[in-house]
Amino acid sequence: MFCNQNYKFGVIPKKDGYMIRLALKPGYITSEQLDAISYIAKNFGENKVHITTRQGIELKIKHEHLEEAEKILNEVGIKLGSTGRRIRQIVACIGTECPNSIGDSIKLARMIHDEFEGIWVPKKLKINVSGCPNNCTHHQFCDIGICFRYILKIDKKECTDCGKCRGFCEIDAIDWKNKVIKENCIGMGECLKLCNAIKVEDRVISIFIGGKGGKFPKKGKWLVDVKTEDEVIEVIDGIIELYTKFGKGRICDFVEHVGIENVKKSLKEKGFI
Ligand code: SF4
Ligand code: SF4
Repeated sequence: MFCNQNYKFGVIPKKDGYMIRLALKPGYITSEQLDAISYIAKNFGENKVHITTRQGIELKIKHEHLEEAEKILNEVGIKLGSTGRRIRQIVACIGTECPNSIGDSIKLARMIHDEFEGIWVPKKLKINVSGCPNNCTHHQFCDIGICFRYILKIDKKECTDCGKCRGFCEIDAIDWKNKVIKENCIGMGECLKLCNAIKVEDRVISIFIGGKGGKFPKKGKWLVDVKTEDEVIEVIDGIIELYTKFGKGRICDFVEHVGIENVKKSLKEKGFI
């Protein structure tokens, strides 16, 4: 791991108290954690809990209760965080509970949280994980976006030339005459339900970098496909190492400045991809 600083943060001063932001493990919280949050809101705050756009939680408390609130949260495994120039709350879709799911987005997002949440970076850095290309977490519009997808093929022996798949794919990724799935296939797999001759050849995890939301949204660029969750952790480690050493501004500025091909080249040279 390149960097593992973990300073206390997650406290935003307000005139009449502190807004505390919780660095939650992505995907879900337990009933004990919910009880602790509810206790703090009721006894130290305004009996209100704000759900953030990044699936996080923040709540306002009176100045004098900060220490006790943090202690209660720590007892149920919650740290304060997700503010400033840090790796922010990791976002995940519902994952394997979704009928479209190709991979366990929550498991992967929690692995990423355990490795990277809260470490220092030149600017805030947002990581979103989708279980399929449907993009429910807007993974192409954050600094590092991750998405499970299929690599498909047409089994030439099973294809009967019926032409049923002609025109089925919205982006024309099925070349039914030559019996190939073209490179522009996004790997969602809708066509698997159409015909038994279309088969899953592989399942990969695509990694995008340099996206962002905000006033001037930018779509992230495809960086690499990997096979395993551990490889995702390696690639993120490599991106953070490069960005922390050489980056200024958000990752999109860094990628624009050095060029996506040079980012790939550096990661390859250092053995991250
Ligand atoms: S991204 Fe895919 S797997 Fe995740 S909730 Fe959306 S449709 Fe389901
Ligand atoms: S997975 Fe989706 S994009 Fe790819 S060929 Fe099938 S329908 Fe088209």
